[in-house]
Amino acid sequence: MSEQPNFSDLGNQIDLAAKLLARSTHTVVLAGAGMSKESGIRTFRGEGGLWTEHGEPPMNQFDCFTSDPHAWWERRLNEGRNDSFGRSIDGAQPNPGHFALAELERLGIVSHLITQNIDDLHRLAGQNSITEIHGNRHWLRCLDCELRWPRTQFVIDAAELPPICSECGGLVKSDTVMFGEPIPATALRRCHEETALADCFLTIGTSALVYPAAQYPANALSRGVPLIEINPEPTPLTSVANVVIAGPSGKILPAVVNQIHNELDH
Ligand code: NAD
Ligand code: ZN
Repeated sequence: MSEQPNFSDLGNQIDLAAKLLARSTHTVVLAGAGMSKESGIRTFRGEGGLWTEHGEPPMNQFDCFTSDPHAWWERRLNEGRNDSFGRSIDGAQPNPGHFALAELERLGIVSHLITQNIDDLHRLAGQNSITEIHGNRHWLRCLDCELRWPRTQFVIDAAELPPICSECGGLVKSDTVMFGEPIPATALRRCHEETALADCFLTIGTSALVYPAAQYPANALSRGVPLIEINPEPTPLTSVANVVIAGPSGKILPAVVNQIHNELDH
């Protein structure tokens, strides 16, 4: 897939998206791994995706954690997280797509962002209203009361593993949602509430195959809410979206924001 979209072909779709967004006061966004590809973080699915090349990882990570949280934490503290995917996240910076999306929030168009990404790049770009439906690599979470802490603010005593929540005594784990782990109820509730209020829905860089995330654009569509998709490759949403912009979000989103400024100036 070309990283250099032909803007004369895409111009019409960008224009249509800008018109829909300029009229909206409660756009909800669902973002996926494609959003961070231009920040140097690989996707799992799609062209060049980690799983596309190496196959899917074991799906029982959460069972491993709950069956022996002490051993899991001991391994984590001793071995760290020195995999190449993790290193690419730790060194990453937001790309122009992240900044353009934060600008849509400042303009009063985007009300809420549901992201499947764990990389923290939306927050670094200045986005405020975010549900990280699969957690955040740099945070920890209590499995019982769902309280979350930045890793840097939680002191872990290697002699007292696993770490325990100071509020409720529950088990503390990394915030990233593991395979087999239920998504925190507070996150799911917020996504439902925001989707119910949406007057426009925007999906960016998601294969729209992972549930429950993929259900939110479908729910909005079923209420007649216009759906805009930004993704260089087709997804199950492509045939039902009102506007499809087939290009990389790091280039498309700044172009959409420029066009919105033109719309708002007239
Ligand atoms: P995915 O890997 O399943 O799909 C990525 C999608 O991005 C594909 O449809 C692909 O066509 C599209 N894409 C590729 N390059 C793009 C670009 N430049 N601009 C826009 N779109 C582009 O991702 P997913 O649907 O988000 O689901 C996989 C899960 O993997 C997520 O739940 C997430 O938790 C996790 N993940 C997170 C990160 C991260 O935090 N950056 C990275 C990889 C995977
Ligand atoms: Zn707790």
